Amino acid sequence: RLKDARILVTGGAGFIGSAVVRRLLGATEASVINVDALTYAANLGSLPGAAENPRYAFEKTDIRDAAAMRQVFERHRPTAVMHLAAETHVDRSIDSPKAFVETNMVGTFVLLEEALRHFRSLDAGERAAFRLLHVSTDEVFGSLGPTGLFDETTPYRPSSPYSASKAGADHLVRAWRETFGLPTLVTNCSNNFGPYHFPEKMIPLMILRGLEGAELPVYGSGRNVRDWLYVEDHAEALILALERGLPGETYNVGARCERTNIAVVEAVCDLLDALAPSLGHSRRDLIRFVEDRPGHDARYAIDPSKIERELGWRPRESFESGLEKTVRWYLANRAWWEPLLRRTENGGDALARRGL
Ligand code: NAD
Repeated sequence: RLKDARILVTGGAGFIGSAVVRRLLGATEASVINVDALTYAANLGSLPGAAENPRYAFEKTDIRDAAAMRQVFERHRPTAVMHLAAETHVDRSIDSPKAFVETNMVGTFVLLEEALRHFRSLDAGERAAFRLLHVSTDEVFGSLGPTGLFDETTPYRPSSPYSASKAGADHLVRAWRETFGLPTLVTNCSNNFGPYHFPEKMIPLMILRGLEGAELPVYGSGRNVRDWLYVEDHAEALILALERGLPGETYNVGARCERTNIAVVEAVCDLLDALAPSLGHSRRDLIRFVEDRPGHDARYAIDPSKIERELGWRPRESFESGLEKTVRWYLANRAWWEPLLRRTENGGDALARRGL
């Protein structure tokens, strides 16, 4: 699978990017060039064994740096690009939106320009096979009421600086195909969870705070609905989209797995009560409702029929099995997450928003 492919992955030291790199190295024959600026969210410890793999190369490069990106393309001559580098934390985008516009929009623009330059240097056969897959979010569609699903024709209506900057990037990617003929694809995915998730995000935050018996801050009434996907299933969907997807198409990725935030937090509490040392009371007692996030979308839900039908993708994990694997992983991998707690404290504003 993917024999002779040289795949440039941006953001490969992040949560989803590292799952993609691990899977490319473990389940395909592709070579991987991981391009990552190593922001606070990155962790090369999420790629155990990669550095010794002859099919892996790492470039510490900022995607906004056109000259450096040009050198990376010239040095590695990739046959495909998977673009995951981004600023991703909604709370941080409320406190300081600039980095989101710079990386998610300007960075994507620079990447597209350098990918196009590279694409034009390829021969006809290489050009026919070249793909740039842009990884995006369902948050670009805004918020749903109690019913309905996002599909590939849903109009964009982003609410947060994060989702607006991702929406801008999606439009740029589409324009580079329509205007310049760069063979791009876009995927829009629901909320991911799983191992190696930075502890500022909701599920790992609740696991680590619940483990130590600290309060569990839940926004608003906890009734906001998210559609959850296990990260390894997302990584497989992305690789399938790269292999079999058609340029110019977009694919929504989700596992038909809607949960209210409070149901997710309660499920984490119950798993911790079963798997971690007892606190002498239910961890559900630690739940505290805190002031809601501004612009907090009420509900996201993805209709994944197109990627299921056209690419034959199916998630392997249910929410329950994936969450249990995730909790077990955090219990067994303290050495991965403990050093990150300090970084989380330094990014204090986002956590202060949850009353921490
Ligand atoms: P993450 O925050 O865990 O990782 C992002 C990575 O990008 C980090 O390694 C960081 O160092 C790198 N990066 C940031 N700015 C960079 C720059 N200027 N140059 C080079 N590298 C840079 O993010 P994630 O959760 O893995 O998300 C990956 C992608 O998937 C993002 O594009 C995100 O919008 C999208 N997405 C995420 C989710 C989710 O639930 N996490 C859902 C749907 C889509």
